[in-house]
Amino acid sequence: EFAMSKSIAEQRQYLPIYSVRDELLQVIRENQVVVVVGETGSGKTTQLTQYLHEDGYTINGVVGCTQPRRVAAMSVAKRVSEEMETELGDKVGYAIRFEDVTGPNTIIKYMTDGVLLRETLKDADLDKYRVIVMDEAHERSLNTDVLFGILKKVVAQRRDFKLIVTSATLNAQKFSNFFGSVPIFHIPGRTFPVNILYSKTPCEDYVEAAVKQAMTIHITSSPGDILIFMTGQDEIEAACYALAERIEQLISSTRKGVPKLLILPIYSQLPADLQAKIFQKAEDGARKCIVATNIAETSLTVDGIFYVIDTGYGKMKVYNPKMGMDALQVFPVSRAAADQRAGRAGRTGPGTCYRLYTESAYLNEMLPAPVPEIQRTNLGNVVLLLKSLKIENLLDFDFMDPPPQENILNSMYQLWVLGALNNVGGLTDIGWKMVEFPLDPPLAKMLLMGEQLECLDEVLTIVSMLSVPSVFFRPKDRAEESDAAREKFFVPESDHLTLLNVYRQWKANQYRGDWCNDHFLHVKGLKKAREVRSQLLDILKTLKIPLTSCGFDWDIVRKAICSAYFHNAARLKGVGEYVNCRNGMPCHLHPSSALYGLGYTPEYVVYHELILTTKEYMQCVTAVEPQWLAELGPMFFSVKESDTTLLEHKRKQKEEKTAMEEEME
Ligand code: ADP
Ligand code: MG
Repeated sequence: EFAMSKSIAEQRQYLPIYSVRDELLQVIRENQVVVVVGETGSGKTTQLTQYLHEDGYTINGVVGCTQPRRVAAMSVAKRVSEEMETELGDKVGYAIRFEDVTGPNTIIKYMTDGVLLRETLKDADLDKYRVIVMDEAHERSLNTDVLFGILKKVVAQRRDFKLIVTSATLNAQKFSNFFGSVPIFHIPGRTFPVNILYSKTPCEDYVEAAVKQAMTIHITSSPGDILIFMTGQDEIEAACYALAERIEQLISSTRKGVPKLLILPIYSQLPADLQAKIFQKAEDGARKCIVATNIAETSLTVDGIFYVIDTGYGKMKVYNPKMGMDALQVFPVSRAAADQRAGRAGRTGPGTCYRLYTESAYLNEMLPAPVPEIQRTNLGNVVLLLKSLKIENLLDFDFMDPPPQENILNSMYQLWVLGALNNVGGLTDIGWKMVEFPLDPPLAKMLLMGEQLECLDEVLTIVSMLSVPSVFFRPKDRAEESDAAREKFFVPESDHLTLLNVYRQWKANQYRGDWCNDHFLHVKGLKKAREVRSQLLDILKTLKIPLTSCGFDWDIVRKAICSAYFHNAARLKGVGEYVNCRNGMPCHLHPSSALYGLGYTPEYVVYHELILTTKEYMQCVTAVEPQWLAELGPMFFSVKESDTTLLEHKRKQKEEKTAMEEEME
């Protein structure tokens, strides 16, 4: 109602930050760095940039605002462009990886922290920016943490540069200390009490419990929207499906009218137009029920929520030493996060939060605050980036919380295996080139190997397809039909080549949308892959790397794929069962793989990543020859001793190399 009855200007003036606008601008004028603390929804993200613009900071530069999440960057930029009555991409724009919606007129630019980090490669002093707002700093994302160290230098170099760090209450003092005890500005809160209710016993199936709770609220409680926190897309979809089903059942079992429930999922992979729906007002008094990941914890604020249902879990990217890679895993959230979630119910009036866990779990089992990403993930990209910024010894970098030395060393080892680092830890030629691509090191390596093996055109398509969400569409009610459609694209020895095949056929059919629908493919995903492809092609052009093609000799492509994934090489152990060559970790073929059930079981494969569901499943698999692993991998790349085939190949390779060297002498 508020959104409809009040003009945008009135809505802006109603936000808590508005009451302190002038004082805040004064503090910013007098200080180079300011930490701004305020409740979620107080107006930090949408208003600060506009205030800075109104105060003249955009006359000779851009006001940039970083976000740890892509969804937030897009959604907030859209909102601010509406508030400023300008087209998105004109005065107000956003940039996320592979998507730049800014233009020559852009003076307020929202971007992911990763985008700004990459910009520092081209322009270490960030000359185009007059102010950077580092938003959501309390999230302590990997890129934000690296930016802290880099921006501290920019602050020292450029007197005209301003830095504003926004944060929830957590960590504010730490941020202030890091920049030399800079002022902390508090935005007065305007929140209502939230009644917190715990489960009496731990709950077995929190998706089911959440659905039940939402239905109970909907039928018995007074008006007010519901927000449910889940861990990821699959659960969210399952919950939405179950909710819709229960409403249907209710309608058919009662004669009386059932109040309307508008069920709205939100997660990062959801298309932008569907994401925007959570902000829309439900028609004729229907109740909204938003089912979200932790994206709705602090980065997006939806008004009108009176009920929060908190499952107590969230997904986090964590380096798994056993697997030797990062994996998204489900963890109990921290107490700080749980409190943030509860707080969402008290923005518009007194609310209720249903915690689907016990009070004792909250008090005794949850960590007080989340572990910063830099301390729990693979640092491959960061290491490459810092090395290219000529930071020789990473342990000397000004980290707010340094990553464990072991993490750095592990990441360096992987880069060395990929040939990006030399034996003394410096960047190799390949390493320097890899930095140019906004890709994870293995994918950048695959591209460069495509150059060497003269199959770049093919590899480029594969890398682009791997950079977008899966293009295969599998509706629950037409699973068999869609699986059959997918199988038609299979290239028996490789899921990577299957992706290439899909893209080529789409191209041969003039990139048509109806063709995608007929073949159970997401047209949006494919279009995105095409866009990514053209952007990577631009980078290749600036590096003067020609686009070579191997035609249909796809064995060479498999060799290039092999070069990127030594750490994910696996050896056949049983039916559909493999073990990782380095650490013996079991990994399984997924039923959706092209290699599954075709009676074709190659001895060695490499995989893109491992996903943990009921078992460790390899995602995107390609059969490889053991001699490629031996030939392309560095001589001392560790292999499990029981893997005699591979060791034999390595021994032979070494002998051949020595013989050749002797001959040359
Ligand atoms: P903070 O960053 O302090 O959490 P924001 O600036 O994000 O606060 O939000 C301020 C207000 O703007 C909130 O009431 C929120 O609901 C509203 N808002 C933010 N984004 C949108 C959007 N895309 N559509 C509609 N309202 C929005
Ligand atoms: Mg915000």
